[in-house]
Amino acid sequence: RAKEAGRGTYAFFEESLNERAQLRRQIETDLRLAIERGEFELLYQPLFDLEQNRICSFEALIRWNHPTRGLISPADFVPVAEDTGLIVPIGAWVIREACQQAAHWPEHVRVAVNVSAVQFHRGSLHETILAALAASGLAPARLEIEITESIFLDGGETTLKLLHSLRGLGVRIALDDFGTGYSSLSYLQSFPFDKLKIDRSFIQNLLTREGASAIVRAITELAHALNIETTAEGVEETAQLMELRSHGCSSVQGYLFAEPMAAADVDQLFNSDKVAVPGAEAQSVA
Ligand code: C2E
Ligand code: MG
Ligand code: MG
Ligand code: MG
Repeated sequence: RAKEAGRGTYAFFEESLNERAQLRRQIETDLRLAIERGEFELLYQPLFDLEQNRICSFEALIRWNHPTRGLISPADFVPVAEDTGLIVPIGAWVIREACQQAAHWPEHVRVAVNVSAVQFHRGSLHETILAALAASGLAPARLEIEITESIFLDGGETTLKLLHSLRGLGVRIALDDFGTGYSSLSYLQSFPFDKLKIDRSFIQNLLTREGASAIVRAITELAHALNIETTAEGVEETAQLMELRSHGCSSVQGYLFAEPMAAADVDQLFNSDKVAVPGAEAQSVA
């Protein structure tokens, strides 16, 4: 009787939880094989410098070409990779691959790589980066590591030590998704970051919410005073771009200029004088 009563609610819920757990186990198993099978790919999205009116950097964004499930976005597998620790070898592959690609780009163009908090604390990041730079020949100053404030949740002292040791390699360090999550200005006081990436949520509301505009202005002014660059994430409209210019934002990134693209398309961009340069929109309102 009890069984029957629960049928519509509890049992159903349990079943879907079960399915989810199963899917997750499947993803875990597949993730382990994905590296050796070469199923990961990096796409690159340009960052556009507003002072120089040209591309200054590309952010590397991972994709998983799953043999049966198709393209899987990082939001769907990075959390699993973090829980299982697989993010360490995957993240190391990302750093190696991004450095190899960027070594062929013009010298003023950097590459930015996302490093998850788990990878930061459990991977041998210093050694991994050192090896990737040596193997690719990329100048350290052309590599930018994007971390989020969540790295500070795990012991401040060791975190700062590692940040300084990475800085010692000559790589740049950016604070990603700034303004969300664990935001605290004390991080800015304890480490001299090279860049703040203003979270897309503020850019989205820039023209519709008075608060968003005030926050973006405050972040850019603060960054300016601390001699830190700013990048606005997720710029989709020309009006947003104009507002960001007026706030003195250093660079912009978003679908208005270009979506993340394959490595071959980046190479083609640099090898052709064709005017299909992402960022033409930024120039037209310069
Ligand atoms: P993120 O580092 O903040 O990257 C920016 C995300 O915003 C990317 O999503 C990018 O495709 C998307 N984006 C860029 N411009 C626009 C825009 O104009 N509008 C909208 N709606 N979205 C835009 P993506 O590639 O799906 O990556 C999501 C997140 O996954 C990243 O956020 C990053 O936290 C993580 N991620 C990506 N690649 C890696 C990686 O190699 N390693 C690690 N650990 N995490 C990664
Ligand atoms: Mg990022
Ligand atoms: Mg971001
Ligand atoms: Mg973001």
